[in-house]
Amino acid sequence: MRQKRSKQYKRLMALYSTSFGFREPYQILVDGNFLYMALRYKMNICDQLCNVMLGKTKQMYTSCTLKEVRKQGKDWEETEMELQKFEQRRCEHRKKAVTSAECLSSIIEQDNPHNYCIATQNELLRESFRNVPGVPLLYINRSVLIVEPPSRATLEIVKKVEFEKTLAPRNEIKFLKKINSDTIIKGENEIIKKKRKSKGFKRPNPLSCKKKKAKPLPSFLTSQNNKNNNNNEDKISNKRKYEGEFNNEIKDSINNKETEIHSNKRKRKRKKTKAE
Ligand SMILES: [Zn+2]
Repeated sequence: MRQKRSKQYKRLMALYSTSFGFREPYQILVDGNFLYMALRYKMNICDQLCNVMLGKTKQMYTSCTLKEVRKQGKDWEETEMELQKFEQRRCEHRKKAVTSAECLSSIIEQDNPHNYCIATQNELLRESFRNVPGVPLLYINRSVLIVEPPSRATLEIVKKVEFEKTLAPRNEIKFLKKINSDTIIKGENEIIKKKRKSKGFKRPNPLSCKKKKAKPLPSFLTSQNNKNNNNNEDKISNKRKYEGEFNNEIKDSINNKETEIHSNKRKRKRKKTKAE
């Protein structure tokens, strides 16, 4: 296999695995006409399939395909024998067999749910499968095994899957829908404000700075202060003196009253004795 083609197939299989979930061993439904052609060119089909698919493969056939091969006569005996070496895939046509093309179409359905690859020389069948996204198609062209490039339907799904990968996960979308849109906007505004604040001028850490030494005051200010202090002290002492004088006056008045009372008593006693 040429390098250019192997690179193409590598990209192709990566596309099928990432967008459609194809995994090894790749399941290949083999049509009778495909195997007949491979034997005609004496191809080791199992090895060639592994080379082309860049991984392990599992070749399969249906009972309908086998019955169709048997109908072909002696020329196809070898094909019948080789086909039976593969794994049989059950189909829905046990009671009444259909053509191989119809049988394969019923398995692939609308979206190839079991991720099968189809190997067939039937051009019409391949054309119908091109409308189904995610179906790798193989055929033999002059003793060379070919994997068809992805169909338009396949590429459309690939684009869709890639676009969905860029979106937020479904759980996150549900969560965001639950939250009120106003609160989200408020939250965003707060975040913006915080960011703006942080961008402002940064002051140095005060703990890391040295303390400024206090400058000595000029002499005239200090003298004034002393004067003020002295005035205050004088005011306090005057106040105390005044309070002391006031107290002495009260005491004197009380003493004077007491002496008046005593003198009055003595006068009354003298009057009483004169009267007797
Ligand atoms: Zn069938």
